[in-house]
Amino acid sequence: MVIDKLIQFHRLSFSEAVELLAYTGDAEATERLGAEALKLRRMYYGDKVYTRGLIEFTNYCKNNCYYCGIRRDNKNAVRYRLTAEEILDCCDNGYELGFRTFVLQGGEDPYYTDDRMVEIIEKIKGRYPDCALTLSIGEKSYETYRRFREAGADRYLLRHETADDAHYRSLHPETMSLAARKQCLYDLKSLGFQVGAGFMVGSPGQTRETLAEDLVFLQELNPQMIGIGPFIPHHETRFADQPAGSVELTLFLLAVLRILFPRVLLPATTALGTLDPRGREKGLAMGANVVMPNLSPVKNRKQYDLYDNKICTGEEAAECRGCLERRVASAGFQLVGERGDYAEG
Ligand code: SAM
Repeated sequence: MVIDKLIQFHRLSFSEAVELLAYTGDAEATERLGAEALKLRRMYYGDKVYTRGLIEFTNYCKNNCYYCGIRRDNKNAVRYRLTAEEILDCCDNGYELGFRTFVLQGGEDPYYTDDRMVEIIEKIKGRYPDCALTLSIGEKSYETYRRFREAGADRYLLRHETADDAHYRSLHPETMSLAARKQCLYDLKSLGFQVGAGFMVGSPGQTRETLAEDLVFLQELNPQMIGIGPFIPHHETRFADQPAGSVELTLFLLAVLRILFPRVLLPATTALGTLDPRGREKGLAMGANVVMPNLSPVKNRKQYDLYDNKICTGEEAAECRGCLERRVASAGFQLVGERGDYAEG
């Protein structure tokens, strides 16, 4: 049976992945996968849950991804960008609160030229050499990624979104391509970044087959981090009336990913917590081992509006961290203030 094979070999072919995905909603299969996922995360990470301070520093974007609330053509989005000083203030605040990883995430905003980004990276790493710095600012050239890496950036999150060409084209304008996205991920890996790929669960047009392609691509890339969270419609997009992704399928996939990639850094995402008030706790119970509390200034949080009803937009950073600390403890784990690097084998 395909579940036994997955547990034994930590691999799935395309057809096996399609077969496995038919078990979504099957209580017995989900329980078995969850138990195995927990066993593996304990083997490599004990009961630790790593925390990342998320700084959403710009919602300007030159891209036009059809599902995203901050895409260029959403003229009703209220745009903002943080100055280098404001970003450093967020880091100062985060460091005080015990964060040892900062994640700079934003739209693809041309204001932040390579020179400006390098300056920001050097300032953060200069002030906090004991912290890891993750970037999540989209597709760049090899040369740009090289400069970011040399300036001190440690990790890079770039979800591939879907590994199926036709599906990718249905979610993005013609100016974007899956091939370019994949090339970025391979470039980042070759430069020595800890790399995160991933996808939305339940994005419009997703099928068992496209998900199986995601699982096959991830095995080929072998990233250190994988970000998955349910798709949630945004009212100003063409997908406003599409149903949100399923919490159940997201949890099932978290367990599958933990088994495929026993050491992977796997967040229980804000999107999961948005669809289900205990979504992040449930994610931890299925193998996730990272949470990403928001360190962005409260005045800008609502403006980083990727999807409707996003949670955690009104709280101070300290409240956000405190809340997650309690949630993590209630799920039987321990939130730790360490860099939380990938456990190399
Ligand atoms: N611009 C960077 C990039 O392209 O990787 C980082 C910012 S982008 C807004 C971060 C992630 O948000 C995307 O990779 C996408 O998966 C997720 N996202 C965007 N719109 C979403 C939606 N409607 N529901 C759930 N996740 C969404």
